Amino acid sequence: MSELNKKGLPLDLSKKLNVAHINMCTEAEGPFKRMAIWFQGCNILCEGCCNPELQPIVIAHIMTVQEIVDIALESQKLYGIEGVTFLGGEPTLQEGLCVLAKIMANNGFGTILFTGRTVEYLDKEMVESVDLIVDGKFDEQQIDNTRNLIGSKNQRIHLITDRYNKYEDWFHKVREKRVEINISQSTELFISGDIM
Ligand code: SF4
Repeated sequence: MSELNKKGLPLDLSKKLNVAHINMCTEAEGPFKRMAIWFQGCNILCEGCCNPELQPIVIAHIMTVQEIVDIALESQKLYGIEGVTFLGGEPTLQEGLCVLAKIMANNGFGTILFTGRTVEYLDKEMVESVDLIVDGKFDEQQIDNTRNLIGSKNQRIHLITDRYNKYEDWFHKVREKRVEINISQSTELFISGDIM
C-alpha cells in the first residue's frame, strides 16, 4: 500500500492526467491557501471562455496521481496550503480525476472542482469525491459581477461535504479584482484569479 493511500482503498496512483499548469500556492482560486491545477482539454466550448488556450485536447504535461499529490504535499510543507482546486479546461475529462480527488482527501486536503458540466451530468462517484463543486457552462449573456471567481449567474455552488460550509462566503463577498501573476523558471507568464 502506498503511503499516500492511507485508507488502503483500491485506488491506482499510477493513473495519468493531462496537466496544463500547477500553481503550488494561490489565494485566488478558493478559500484559504490552495494549490490550483489547470487541466488541458475541454469539449464544452463556451462562447467567451476565459481560458481558450486550455480547450484544445492535446498533450500538455502527463502526470500521475502520485506525482501530483507529491507536489501538493510539498506545497503543504512549504506554504501550508489547506486544499486543492481543480480547474480547466474541463477537469472531469480526466479519467484519473476521481482517484486524484480521493487521494487528496485521504491526505487531509480539501478539494474544490470547477466544471462546465452540471452535477446532474457527473458520475455520483466523481461528485462525492470532492468537497465543493462550482458547476455549469460559462454563459456570457449572464455575466456575474457579484461572486468571486464565478463567471456567470447560471453557475451554481454545491457544498458536497460540510468542509466548506462556513466558507462559502468567500465566493459571495464583494467581488475583489484579485489577480495573481506568476512567472515560472521557464519565463512562462501565468495569470490566475478573477480577470473578468
Ligand atoms: S467549460 Fe470552462 S474551459 Fe471549457 S469552454 Fe467553458 S469556460 Fe472554457
